[in-house]
Amino acid sequence: MSSVRLIVISIMAWLGLGSPAIIETPDRWRPDPDVGLLEGMTLRIHWFESSAELREAAANNGQEKERGLLGYSIIRRNIETSEYVCDVYVVKMTGATVDGDRTTTFGHEVLHCFGLSHDSAAARTAK
Ligand SMILES: [Zn+2]
Repeated sequence: MSSVRLIVISIMAWLGLGSPAIIETPDRWRPDPDVGLLEGMTLRIHWFESSAELREAAANNGQEKERGLLGYSIIRRNIETSEYVCDVYVVKMTGATVDGDRTTTFGHEVLHCFGLSHDSAAARTAK
């Protein structure tokens, strides 16, 4: 069995909608210095039936629990082929409101898959 060697570039991208810190000082998108802005990657979506299942999966994957977790993503680079693979973990859209938290979370995590990350410093100095 051949094993694919992957390197994790960006460990976790958590979205904490409703967090007072995020509302008061919103981060700005910027290309991740370790990834750059990607034009393409292999995108894999891991759908969950509920937020509880999503949180349980995150905990089982050794990821730190976060109150209000709505989704997360992990981007990896295959060091042999230089190709990127991004896994997005979110709750299914069925029954969700259009442009609601689930939709926002999905779009947010996909942007991480294209190599964007949060720039908290830019947000603090932005006028
Ligand atoms: Zn994020």
